Amino acid sequence: MKKVVKFGGSSLASAEQFKKVGAIIKADESRVYVVPSAPGKRFSGDTKVTDMLLHMYATASEGKDIDEEIKAIKARYDEIITGLELKDFSLDKDFEEIANLMKTEPSKDFAASRGEYLNGKIMAKYLGVEFIDAAEVIFFNDEGKLNDYKTEKVLSERLAQCERAVVPGFYGLGKDGKVKTFSRGGSDVTGSIVAQAGRVDVYENWTDVSGFLVSDPRIVDNPKPIKYITYRELRELSYMGASVLHEDAIFPVRRCGIPINIRNTNRPEDPGTWIVESTAQKQDYVVTGIAGKKDFCTIFISKAMMNSEIGFGRKVLQAFEENDISFEHMPSGIDTMTIVVHADEFLHKEQSVVSAIHRLAAPDSIEIEAGLALVAVVGRGMKSASGTAGKLFSALANEGINIKMIDQGSSELNIIIGVKNDDFEKSIRAIYATFIKD
Ligand code: ADP
Ligand code: ASP
Ligand code: MG
Repeated sequence: MKKVVKFGGSSLASAEQFKKVGAIIKADESRVYVVPSAPGKRFSGDTKVTDMLLHMYATASEGKDIDEEIKAIKARYDEIITGLELKDFSLDKDFEEIANLMKTEPSKDFAASRGEYLNGKIMAKYLGVEFIDAAEVIFFNDEGKLNDYKTEKVLSERLAQCERAVVPGFYGLGKDGKVKTFSRGGSDVTGSIVAQAGRVDVYENWTDVSGFLVSDPRIVDNPKPIKYITYRELRELSYMGASVLHEDAIFPVRRCGIPINIRNTNRPEDPGTWIVESTAQKQDYVVTGIAGKKDFCTIFISKAMMNSEIGFGRKVLQAFEENDISFEHMPSGIDTMTIVVHADEFLHKEQSVVSAIHRLAAPDSIEIEAGLALVAVVGRGMKSASGTAGKLFSALANEGINIKMIDQGSSELNIIIGVKNDDFEKSIRAIYATFIKD
């Protein structure tokens, strides 16, 4: 049995947190590959090291002095090194190199990546295991996407040579030979890549909550953790803003059927959430999870006899394509059709889209509305349970919430409803209270 363990920023924010992590790793022989993030927030209002590094880069690229910023970042690491009582170990040389590079040729990705690089070095020293620089084993292609083929080949060979190793998260090597990062939260992706290349049995992702919760804990008080969730359910929820795990972290492990176990560093005794391909485990509730996002716009298009006009939908969508806007949903009626888009992609181009729809599809009228929030209710159990939609609508009606849009995914895995931005949190709480019982 082999496991990859990835620890998020809050799990490695201080020496005290590092010690918890050390104890977790030592408690299970099979936790052989460790993927650390950069030190995160120690308390609310604190700044993540990644954000400090990005700020330092911005200062350097304006040609300003970064000595104070370097000092503050170094202090974060020195506090950890001292707290862990690491002998004969210092990052002084690394910081000199970073400072020099920032002065001569500042690079944003290089700066951001140092958060995990340095934390990885500390972790390797603390555990007494090999440090593998991610820039030697994870590669991007010309388009800036992961080069799976080369990464898998080089990384699996390297991992096969060591019993235990630390591979820092979040970055790899770009096609131009320079360090390149994933998007924010990308250490989750590294964990998944190491899991695949290391041929492990489980990918444990350690964070600051006891698993994937039924709803965002910032909206619902003390939501219950989900015991089992399928990759597909997770994808629906992550897409709708439940951001416990980076979206791209699913693909590498899904390909080889490695389950992900989300765990809480501060409560290691909790079982957490299992993210799996499929499961026959009994579910506690029909609904697996509830997530959502605010700030969508709807474009309501009507035209008499729309239903019989061949190619109407295509022409409307072409108007969005011409403006480089992707659409999220498209509920339709007999003479009407609604397109739902992200406000930030659409608002600055709205009139250009409207005129394109008129030119291409000649509708009778177009109405635009902003301030829509989407809530996704996701559950593999909904397919076989009757009355879910009815229960959902009465939950909202009882709270006086007006439903502006309904879209049931063809997989019967989710129901998406549109409500006013102002009703967003209230809707999620009402749905939670209806479906999740103590
Ligand atoms: P890490 O730094 O460990 O990678 P993240 O901050 O990326 O952790 O993700 C964990 C956070 O995700 C939690 O602290 C929580 O605030 C937030 N979150 C949002 N939606 C959910 C959800 N449905 N379940 C659990 N956590 C959620
Ligand atoms: N440290 C990076 C970030 O803050 C990556 C990560 O934490 O996964 O986005
Ligand atoms: Mg994260």
